[in-house]
Amino acid sequence: MAQTPVVPRCPLCAGAKGLAHLDEVRDHITGQQFAITRCGICGLGVTKPQLDDLTSYYPPAYRKYTGLTRACLRWLYGRRMRSVTKRMNRLGIALDMGCGDGWMLDALRRQGWSVLGIERTPQSARAAWVEHGVPAIAGGLEAIQARPCADLIIMFHVLEHLPDPLEALCQCAARLKPGGWLLVSVPNLESWQARWFGRHWFHLDVPRHLFHFSPSSVKHALASAGLEVRCLRFTSWEHDPYGWLQSALNQLGFPQNQLTKRLMGDHGAARLTPQRVAMGLVAALFIVPSVVLSVASWMAGRGAILEVVAAKSHT
Ligand SMILES: [Zn+2]
Repeated sequence: MAQTPVVPRCPLCAGAKGLAHLDEVRDHITGQQFAITRCGICGLGVTKPQLDDLTSYYPPAYRKYTGLTRACLRWLYGRRMRSVTKRMNRLGIALDMGCGDGWMLDALRRQGWSVLGIERTPQSARAAWVEHGVPAIAGGLEAIQARPCADLIIMFHVLEHLPDPLEALCQCAARLKPGGWLLVSVPNLESWQARWFGRHWFHLDVPRHLFHFSPSSVKHALASAGLEVRCLRFTSWEHDPYGWLQSALNQLGFPQNQLTKRLMGDHGAARLTPQRVAMGLVAALFIVPSVVLSVASWMAGRGAILEVVAAKSHT
């Protein structure tokens, strides 16, 4: 008797439609090819294959920007945290999953918050201590007792890296106090950028991004974790215009993410060649259109980055 083929189920909604092939994408670091599949029900994108150990796929300078880029990012992150505090109208305990150098927590602490960072490795957790004296631990939320203790949890460009995003959101919900906020920021697979650039879209970042969210899949995940979406917005000055710029350069055939490597301090990428001079000139021409397109996409609800505030109910 012929066997019915097993259709891979969506890890988020377990939808019966299964996962359909969306695109083939090359990792700009290793050159390896990965597939992206997509759930026909909740819209979640899934990277295939999903590797158990991604350590060798993270370069030492991953998200470690230098110079003016670093200063700009720090200022924008601080500005975002001041805005969050203003909207929450309360102070308390803040946890930041994937705290990096601790910029957001440093900004929150200056406003009166008690803070704790969580990072993937002891080395990266140490960076937050060294840079800003921000306390940070290595590992995951499991290191913190599962009881309501936090007023604010930040997952800024983290959820898409986790092997079980729903479990991570449930862990956050268990540690939030009633009325506490979870701030989630992820690339938007339904953005204009994602649609226009396809496999060249800068924010796909496979295989480090295991999942690719959209407004519907983020809402589904948060609701499944028992959290209520309060606000969904797209404004991201630090990620959106740059996404247009780098994706356009990728699509024009320049070496993948060359500009990003340069901004992360890759001296090999800094050596001047005719191709790099040409890339610099094209990038300069694209700066203004990138900003204009970003603002237009935010107004249309199709920005490249989704930022969601979800709250734990008071009951
Ligand atoms: Zn699904």
